[in-house]
Amino acid sequence: MKKTEDKSPKWAFSAISPLRLLKEAREAQYYSYSPYSHFPVGAALLLGNNEVIKGCNVENASYGMALCAERNVIAQMVALGKKDPQAIAIVGKIGTPCYPCGACLQVMWEFNPDMILVFEKENNKAETMLLRNLLPYPFSREGMKDE
Ligand SMILES: [Zn+2]
Repeated sequence: MKKTEDKSPKWAFSAISPLRLLKEAREAQYYSYSPYSHFPVGAALLLGNNEVIKGCNVENASYGMALCAERNVIAQMVALGKKDPQAIAIVGKIGTPCYPCGACLQVMWEFNPDMILVFEKENNKAETMLLRNLLPYPFSREGMKDE
């Protein structure tokens, strides 16, 4: 049998379990403003001090102005003067993983490429992934000349 590498990142946060963080995201989803897509999304961001910040998607009649739950919660973290995001749980449809869009991956990468992402799977199970693995080649200003 071929040996496969375990790509699930180690969950090192004793204060909260992946399933509990998913529950927090599910609570945040309740406040989603998504009258156009009818696809409410919730996100819960775990900080290094064990604080959890929640966010949801916010849509607009001008569709392109929609804000994803992940970018919403990152913006809240910044606006609240908080930092050190360690993990984020994201929920959409029950029992189905809700993976972030490319824009959100890039925004999360800015604050911690080693952030652990938590998704919901069937039968109330959690799936964890490393942000770095989902976005191996982020946009970077490295190599650019200073302005
Ligand atoms: Zn997004």
